[in-house]
Amino acid sequence: MPYLITALREFTSSAMNLVFPPSCVHCSREGSLLCHICVAESTPLLKNVCRKCAEPLAKAGTCARCSTEKSPIDRLYGSFLYETPVGSAIEALKFDDVRSLGGVLGEMFDVEGLRRSDADLIVPVPLHKSRLRSRGFNQSAVLARRLAGRMDIEFRDDALVRTGERVPQSEQPTALARERAMSGAFAVKSSSVAAFADKRILLVDDVFTTGSTVKACASALKSAGASWVGVAALAVQPIGALK
Ligand SMILES: [Zn+2]
Ligand SMILES: [Zn+2]
Repeated sequence: MPYLITALREFTSSAMNLVFPPSCVHCSREGSLLCHICVAESTPLLKNVCRKCAEPLAKAGTCARCSTEKSPIDRLYGSFLYETPVGSAIEALKFDDVRSLGGVLGEMFDVEGLRRSDADLIVPVPLHKSRLRSRGFNQSAVLARRLAGRMDIEFRDDALVRTGERVPQSEQPTALARERAMSGAFAVKSSSVAAFADKRILLVDDVFTTGSTVKACASALKSAGASWVGVAALAVQPIGALK
C-alpha cells in the first residue's frame, strides 16, 4: 500500500509538471526544482577544514577540540556550505514538503569521494516519531536511500531509532548543552545489533551544524559494535557561522 501511494504521488507530480513546469525553489527560474545556475552557485565545503567537524583550519586535518575530545565520528564528509542555494533547497524539502527535491539533492553528494570511505552500510539520522508524524517523511532517509542506490551499498532505516524526547536544538544555548541534551537520544534496536557488528557505517544527515545529533547517533552505532562511523552531510553550517 505505501508503494501504491508513492507511485500515485510520483505519477501525479509528473502529470502536474507537464501542466505547470517546476520552478527553482531558490531563484524561481522556470524549468527545474533547483536550476543549474543555483547548483553551480552552491559553494562546496572548503578543503581546509577539520575532518571531524568542518571548522575552518589553516590546512586540512583535525582541530584542537576534536583532537582532545573522543568524538565517535571518524570522518565528516560535508558537501556544500549551507548558506548557498542548496540550503534553500533543503529547507524547501523539509518545510514546504517539496519531496521531489529529495531525488535532486540525493544526486548532489560526491559519490566518488564517499566510495573511498569503504562503507558497508548507509543509515539515515532518524527523526523523532512525533516529527515523522507531522512531516510525513524523514528528509535524511530520502537522501540516504538515493545515495545508497548510487553507491550500491545496503541501506538500513529501521535499525537506528530516536528514543529520547525531542528537545528543540534552538532552545539549547550552547554547543555543550546541545550535546548533553542529545546524548543517549538514539539507540540501535536489539534485533538489529548483529547487522552493525564490525561494520563501517555511513550516517547520512541533511545539515551538519554542531554535530551533536550525529555524535549521539554515532555513539549508539559504536555501542552496537560498528567499527567506524563516517557522516555524509549534504550541507554544513560551520559552528563559527553561529557565533
Ligand atoms: Zn535557481
Ligand atoms: Zn574539529
